[in-house]
Amino acid sequence: MIDEKLQPILNQVLQRNHGEPEFHQAVREVLESLGRVVTKHPDYLDQALIERICEPERQIIFRVPWVDDKGQVQINRGFRVQFNSALGPYKGGLRFHPSVNIGIIKFLGFEQTFKNALTGMPIGGGKGGSDFNPRGRSDGEIMRFCQSFMTELYRHLGEYTDVPAGDIGVGGREIGFMFGQYKRLTNRYEAGVLTGKALFYGGSRARTEATGYGNTYFVQAMLATKKQSFEGKKVVVSGSGNVAIYSVEKVQEFGGKVIAVSDSSGYIVDEQGIDLELLRQVKEVRRARISEYLSLRGEGRGAYFVKAGQSSIWSVPCDVAMPSATQNELTGADASALVKNGVMAVGEGANMPSTPEAVRIFQESGVMFAPGKAANAGGVATSALEMQQNASRDSWTFEQTETRLASIMRNIHDTCAGTAEEFGSPGDYVLGANIAGFVRVAEAMRALGVI
Ligand code: GLU
Repeated sequence: MIDEKLQPILNQVLQRNHGEPEFHQAVREVLESLGRVVTKHPDYLDQALIERICEPERQIIFRVPWVDDKGQVQINRGFRVQFNSALGPYKGGLRFHPSVNIGIIKFLGFEQTFKNALTGMPIGGGKGGSDFNPRGRSDGEIMRFCQSFMTELYRHLGEYTDVPAGDIGVGGREIGFMFGQYKRLTNRYEAGVLTGKALFYGGSRARTEATGYGNTYFVQAMLATKKQSFEGKKVVVSGSGNVAIYSVEKVQEFGGKVIAVSDSSGYIVDEQGIDLELLRQVKEVRRARISEYLSLRGEGRGAYFVKAGQSSIWSVPCDVAMPSATQNELTGADASALVKNGVMAVGEGANMPSTPEAVRIFQESGVMFAPGKAANAGGVATSALEMQQNASRDSWTFEQTETRLASIMRNIHDTCAGTAEEFGSPGDYVLGANIAGFVRVAEAMRALGVI
């Protein structure tokens, strides 16, 4: 339900951003949370503040030509949406995936703005990427694509302007190629212009682990409000990228048992608990499909592979679900199955992985639900720590960095929980995250005038 004062704002967003369902979904969810805020503080309706928050400051779309290994010229489309810079330089990842279009990047940039505000760090929100599909491409092709992409993007970036990082399809290898090209074009060793760099050229310890660790810390804090912990819990983590792998690691450290992971080809179940080293070997070293895990481990003893389309990973009974693959991967039917099987908590490692119907089902069933913009903020928060280290030409220990990450996640949890309580819905982390993120961005925007 959306407040009648906010309905015209949503209508305008729907009209102006035709054919962008994910962006509509993200905006609708935030506006649904803001009804109680504008009732209590009607001045947030002044100066078209909320309309301005829904309109990106700048949207850049460009051609990315590159030459494949066969000598053929390929064309992709590049994007950067610089959504909001009230709290700091635009900050947010780059996604390389065939599904990328302007609507996807806008939804991600919008979410990022509130997520970054929740971290309490001085970072605005942005997102970018390309419809380039890295699957099956050689290192040489990836490098040439990244160089061409950066040849246009570099003029829009800068340590004080816009600081990209990774997302789906963009990891350490791609960041390295893009940083190399940025350095070459600008003749500046400006380490703070990209985050997610490798350690030996200005990266931060714990950045790779941060999103997965952070989500696990968040769920731990959420469970603790009900005097529960990960100890002995069955956990399902979708995805098998960076976020999923380091969620598996932290959940195991906290005494939980992760029994399933997935990729776009299907999911695997290992009732004895996922073998983390094997998973890393398959995904990080071999860059192979998830079924390879079983080929290496050997089937049987409670381990099997299910092909995509046959059944959903969310049909696997578990106590805690951590969707860490992509947007709208967890549907209403999946949520009902999880609830039926007794799920207790959900922590979103990906951006907007649960459909609105799924979120509603979790909340109506009393399942603790942590939305991505709060639960997965550990990645970008650690990017901000990387920027801090770059600015001071320092390099922190793993422990020091993880301690900061853990305390940031606890803070975000407490902020969301406290805000939900203040606005009359204790335990509603969606409401808490949206309101707390909004208020920070809105206050800064107000102070800066109509720009
Ligand atoms: N792509 C990540 C996210 O969705 C990280 C962004 C960053 O580190 O800038 O938050």
